[in-house]
Amino acid sequence: MEQPDTQKQIKNTLIKLELADITTLSFDAVVNAANSSLMGGAGVDGAIHYTGGPEILKECKQIIKKIGTLESGKAVITTGGNLPARYVIHTVGPIWDGGTHREAELLTSAYRESLALADSKGLVSIAFPSISTGVFSYPIFEASEIALTAIRDYILNNPTKITLVLFALFSHLDMGAYRRAMGKV
Ligand code: ADP
Repeated sequence: MEQPDTQKQIKNTLIKLELADITTLSFDAVVNAANSSLMGGAGVDGAIHYTGGPEILKECKQIIKKIGTLESGKAVITTGGNLPARYVIHTVGPIWDGGTHREAELLTSAYRESLALADSKGLVSIAFPSISTGVFSYPIFEASEIALTAIRDYILNNPTKITLVLFALFSHLDMGAYRRAMGKV
């Protein structure tokens, strides 16, 4: 059987899948799969704060002072600190709890809100990790379809200036799931 592509053009936006460490990417924005406290954590969150340095955490603390906690499905933006990316968009995906606790809706929202925030800043390139599929345990096949559907729908329904959306995938297993989803969406 033919392998689905690792990229797809929708209107003026290219969606691309790559095996990559998101902390190495020179994008306008990289997205952090954060938790509601914005105080850092494991996985991609830890890697972004470790490589990005203390400036990112300082801004996260200022944001938390104002808003208390970042709800699941929402997104905020900070500097990229020492990362090659200009900005970090911090979003919180849902913690998987069987699938009947609005997980799909919240995961869709995390992608959509991140894209809307990038657009509001006039950014044109954005890289996502696979939100919620690590510590938050969202099943990868479902999550990858939701991720690509959310991005497609955002591009189709909004006059976006974003020309490149990259998925920085961290394992061959994740790549396989996203390629499969690319063929379906
Ligand atoms: P969540 O808490 O939202 O599940 P995790 O960070 O635990 O977030 O996992 C999300 C995904 O990010 C996982 O697939 C994990 O393997 C991946 N990941 C971890 N570090 C990196 C990195 N440096 N670059 C890109 N992806 C990463």
